[in-house]
Order: sequence, then C-alpha cells, then structure tokens
Amino acid sequence: MYPNVRLHIAGEWRDARAGKTIPVINPATEEVIGQVAHAERADLDEALEAAERGFAAWRKVSAYERAKVMRKAGDILRSRADDIARLMTQEQGKPLVEAKMETLAAADLIDWFAEEGRRAYGRVIPARAEGVYQLVIREPVGPVAAFTPWNFPINQVVRKLSAAVATGCSIIVKAPEETPASPAELIRAFLDAGVPGDVVGLVYGVPAEISSYLIAHPTIRKVTFTGSTPVGKQLAALAGQHMKRATMELGGHAPAIVFDDADLDLAAKTLAGAKFRNAGQVCVSPTRFLVQEKLYEPFVEKFVAAAKKVKVGNGLEEGVQMGPLVHDRRIPWVEGLVADARQRGAEVRTGGERIGNKGYFYEPTVLTGVDREARMMNEEPFAPVAMIAPFREFDEVVEEANRLPYGLAAYAFTRSAKTANAIANKVESGMMTINHLGLALPEVPFGGVKDSGYGSEGGSEAIEAYLNTKFVSQAGL
Ligand code: NAD
Repeated sequence: MYPNVRLHIAGEWRDARAGKTIPVINPATEEVIGQVAHAERADLDEALEAAERGFAAWRKVSAYERAKVMRKAGDILRSRADDIARLMTQEQGKPLVEAKMETLAAADLIDWFAEEGRRAYGRVIPARAEGVYQLVIREPVGPVAAFTPWNFPINQVVRKLSAAVATGCSIIVKAPEETPASPAELIRAFLDAGVPGDVVGLVYGVPAEISSYLIAHPTIRKVTFTGSTPVGKQLAALAGQHMKRATMELGGHAPAIVFDDADLDLAAKTLAGAKFRNAGQVCVSPTRFLVQEKLYEPFVEKFVAAAKKVKVGNGLEEGVQMGPLVHDRRIPWVEGLVADARQRGAEVRTGGERIGNKGYFYEPTVLTGVDREARMMNEEPFAPVAMIAPFREFDEVVEEANRLPYGLAAYAFTRSAKTANAIANKVESGMMTINHLGLALPEVPFGGVKDSGYGSEGGSEAIEAYLNTKFVSQAGL
C-alpha cells in the first residue's frame, strides 16, 4: 500500500493548511498511487518558526548526544528498509534491490555523519602576547533550506539532513513531489530516534514558490540544492542576493575514457552497468564514452551486447535491472535528443525507442557517430543513452573531456599508472575514478566544479559546509 504523504511541521504530521494535494504517479504503470500535501505560504511560515525554535534548542545539545540519536535513526532506517524500498520503487521506478541498497546506504551515511559531527573541532592559535588566547570556534550555521530531486529520493536528502543534524542546525527539506513517501520515511526515522520535531521540517509544493520564499527569508542561513544546472544557477543567485551560504550539486556530462591498454572486458562491463543504473538518471552517470582507436570497435560491440541484456520492467518484478524514467516529461525529452542526433548522422547501435505505451520505459540505447554539435553531446541526457566515440591521442581526449562547462564526475580505464596520473591531473572534474567505480561513499568528497556546482556532500568537507567559523581572542585581566 502506498500512503498519502503529509507535511511534517513543528513536530506534527499534517495536511497543508489549504488542504491542497498533488497526485503521485507510479512511473511503471502511470497509475495515481497517492497524494502528497502541497504546502503554501502559511505552512512555510509555520515551518520557518519551528526551524528557528529547533535551532535554538538543538545547537545546545552536545555533539555526543546528537550522534547517539543519529545512530539510532540509522538503525531504525535499517530495520524498515524492506518497506521503505517498496515505497521508493513504486514512486520512482528503480528496481527493488537498488531501492533497498539506497536505503541501507543512507543508514551508513547517517552513522558516518553522526561520528564526524563529534569531530568538528576548532583550534587554538598561538598568540603574540603572553596571557592571550586565540580560539577558533565552529558554530552551526543555522536553519537550513534543502531542495532535493527525485532520482535518489532518500540519498539526496540524507546527506543534507545528516550534516545539518550532526552539526546542530535545524533544517527544512523540500523533498521531491514525484517521489515523496520514501524521503518522508527517512524523516520519520530521525523523529522516532528522538530528533525534536522542530529541528526537521518536511514540505512539498511548487518548487520555485517554496525556494524563492525560503531562500529569501531571514530565518534561513544556508541553502543546499541538488538538481539541474539552470535551476542551480537561479537558486545560487538568490542565495547570493541574500548572502546565504550555499552548496550546489548540479548536473554532469561525465566523460568515460578508455585507453588502448585498458582491460576491455572490465571497462565495458563496469561502464555499461553504470550507464543504465537508475535508467541513466544519475548526475554522475558516464555519458560520453571516449575510446582509443584500437579498442573502439570491440568496446562498442561489448557495450551494445551489455545494453541488449539489460532487463527493463517494473522495478517490483524479480530480475528487473532497469525501471522506467521518472515522469512523463522525460520521454519526449529523450526522444528529442535521439531524433536530433539521428538527424545529424548518428547511428543507433541498439535501442532508440520508447518501450510500449504504458509506463515511461525507454530502451537502453547506444549511439555512435554522434556529431559534436548534437544536443546530447552538450546537454545532460539524464536517460539510458550512451554515445561512444573514438579518439587517437591523449591531448585530443583531454580536450573533448573538458570541452563542456560541466565538471562533476569522470572515469578512465588504463593499465598504465603514468596515464592514470596524467588523466587524473588533466580532466576538469570534481571527481575521477580509474579502473573501477569508486564514488559516493560517506567518507569521500562528493561534488563538482564549473557548471556542476560547488561544495561537497561527502567527506569532512560536507560537515564544514554547515559550520561557521568564529574567532575569539581573549586577554587575561
Ligand atoms: P526540473 O529542472 O524541473 O527539476 C529538477 C529538480 O529540481 C526537481 O527535483 C525539481 O523539484 C527541482 N526544482 C526545479 N525548479 C526548482 C526551483 N525553482 N526551486 C527549487 N527546486 C526546483 O527537471 P526534471 O525534468 O524533473 O529533471 C530534469 C533535469 O534535472 C535533468 O536533466 C537533470 O539535469 C536534472 N536533475 C539533476 C539531478 C542531480 O542529481 N544532480 C537530479 C534530478 C534532476
């Protein structure tokens, strides 16, 4: 059963004051499976008042106590992972096993942030005069406004929520309207573990209305957003206008570079798995596959074979490896990209069509010969679409990898340590993984450069983003 999802404001799960709701659709069946409460100004004002109270109280709780509560939240989440995964698959479409992995990974993230919050140390700077103490103190930044997308309904929330709660901030989460139930269960785990109701608010509604109101509001001290680059730029501008701290985790167009000396089987298997995961709706999804001449044809062959083997279907069914796209707008979007590439001479090696006419399914698709000017070579596809192109020289592939304004993730495969070092140095990206997939663990930084945003959502850098630095210099009397 899929629930109607309510707002969480000031310790109460409730409907919107005006009673409005938004339908939630299962992307595999196109059925309306529930409703989510639609917050408006009156609800947001109450959430902001709660966040103010929540911050005043929670910042006084010791990091040690906060960590204990968070560890409990992690355990609660683990114990409920099967039920939560089922909700996520119904609303988002991803295979049940991936939904469960996401939920369990969130519990690990909570544990890690809980402990890292205890290590948010300040420092003592030696003074020039006797009897003077110079202290650097870390203080929670204040009430946070967090905006998260539908591709990882829990994971995109948990990084923001955990960092905020661990450091003593309060937070209002604007979770995705498309996939509201699983993030609501994440919030419930925090509340059931003992996080006070005023500390964590949860709202849904019209994203632009909520973000413009919350970001500009004096109560909010920090903004964190995961989503597309155009929206990120708007929100970053608004945050700048109101002088709010901001973390922006935006789009990507990851190059995946395979050198002649790479392990071909490993490269093709690893990259095809990464490409079709979550139907390509992943900000770090490999997108431009750049393969050195000698391996080009065999790589295409193996990649196409892997794409053809992907079992697409309703994520609740056993053995399904790829679900539908998340909402109806994604189908014409990907169709437009593929049509444009075809028109410019691309060859569709497999896929390239919608599957059936019920559910937002699209075939795992591989294209070669895609013109550099084609839209999909420049815009983030966010779909199960791979473009494979050959290259000759190291410098040529570096130029192509860095051609776009994006700089989130990059991948490379080579057996040479020298090439590995050189490519890691040359590619402009926030993250690079070589000969495997090594991204997104709690303890490692996660974030981009250039138009992919700024700030990190992993590692100790993620905690930094929720802390202000205060300098205190004290002379003895
Ligand atoms: P979209 O731009 O309408 O929405 C993307 C996300 O941003 C959604 O979660 C939405 O609720 C939110 N959003 C949109 N406008 C907002 C605003 N003014 N204030 C606050 N939040 C706002 O597009 P879409 O069709 O849902 O997704 C398409 C694109 O979004 C993709 O092509 C991809 O580039 C990007 N996206 C990125 C991520 C990521 O992990 N970085 C996740 C989801 C979507």
